[in-house]
Amino acid sequence: MQTTSKLTSSQTTIFTEMSALAIQHKALNLGQGFPDYDPPSALLDLVKDAIDDHKHQYAPMAGVLALREIIAQKVLHAYGQYVNPSTEITITAGATQAIFTAIAAFIYQGDEVIIFEPAYDSYRPSIELAGGKAVVYTMEAPDFKINWTLLAAMISPKTKMIIINTPHNPTGTILKADDLLQLSRIVKDTDIIILSDEVYEHLVYDGQLHESVLKYPELYQQSISVFSFGKTYHCTGWKVGYCIAPEYLMNEIRKVHQWNVFSVNSFVQHALAAFMADASQYLLLNQFYQQKRDFFLEILKTTRLRPLKTEGTFFQLCDYSNISDLDDVAFAKEMTVNHGVACIPISVFYDDHRQDKLIRFCFAKTEGLLTAAGEKLKQIR
Ligand code: PMP
Ligand code: GLN
Repeated sequence: MQTTSKLTSSQTTIFTEMSALAIQHKALNLGQGFPDYDPPSALLDLVKDAIDDHKHQYAPMAGVLALREIIAQKVLHAYGQYVNPSTEITITAGATQAIFTAIAAFIYQGDEVIIFEPAYDSYRPSIELAGGKAVVYTMEAPDFKINWTLLAAMISPKTKMIIINTPHNPTGTILKADDLLQLSRIVKDTDIIILSDEVYEHLVYDGQLHESVLKYPELYQQSISVFSFGKTYHCTGWKVGYCIAPEYLMNEIRKVHQWNVFSVNSFVQHALAAFMADASQYLLLNQFYQQKRDFFLEILKTTRLRPLKTEGTFFQLCDYSNISDLDDVAFAKEMTVNHGVACIPISVFYDDHRQDKLIRFCFAKTEGLLTAAGEKLKQIR
């Protein structure tokens, strides 16, 4: 029997590839984005309590109501937007599933979806599986700014969706209020849906604010925003996240969600609902990660790598052009195999695989690991 692949160019993700290489060569893994520390112990206790409390059977399709209610409270407090927990929030199996489900719900054969490159790797295959076409706006290093006039010129009658991501993986840049206002003006009076990937909402530095689509009431009316508990509570392996959208969009998302996963891990949802009551846990995250960013920046000063500006996320881009002429994939592999520190090359997030000689480090690591990595990075001359 013969089959035809629906994703002919799909490969193992760069994150999996670099983590496997790190394990194989016993390298310190600053590649794939995950913390090397545990979730808060109070959250772990609540998970154990939920297990002891027999929360083992199916959760409601849209998610445990108590969790949706506390998310709605948080959104009102943080972004000033009232969202109805019954109709506008759905708990998903991580942000990846929310993104996939939102795209599957709205993208028809031939529809165009604008993405900004470098782009998180799940967007394009999700669009293509739905029969859509990714239309790329290229953000240029080193500041990765968006010229909204150029973006507006890319919109065609086939444009169905625009995917934004702030704070941005892999660049560590953030969208500013003016970006959101310009986007809002561009899509006003159109049927274009904004899919807003905000998984790093709590990781914004230097006193700047996260600009969520939820802060812009008109924009919210045509937006789906996506979040992940993995980033917020150091539990990437639990794969629990959520999406928020006005009811007319959420109705369609839930139709796909119902046949995709139906519902998400129940005891973790109960634990998260109880844990989120303590807002300080996520309000202090900016400070927690800014300290890590600054600690890592100090370490980088002892190396020949040149850091770019990180305004958000737990990623740090570095320019290595004064160290090596290798392309970034080869350089990242050499770093892992020969120098004992794994990182992620940036060209893989561009369709044209442009060579800006940039690599990404994840600094969601203990100071011990960052220091040990620094010792190795120092040796690369
Ligand atoms: N979007 C971005 C920008 C991400 O960096 C990630 C994961 N690191 C995701 C989505 C997926 O999140 P999750 O692990 O909750 O599926
Ligand atoms: N989002 C994580 C990163 O950027 C990795 C997620 C994954 O491995 N798919 O590193």
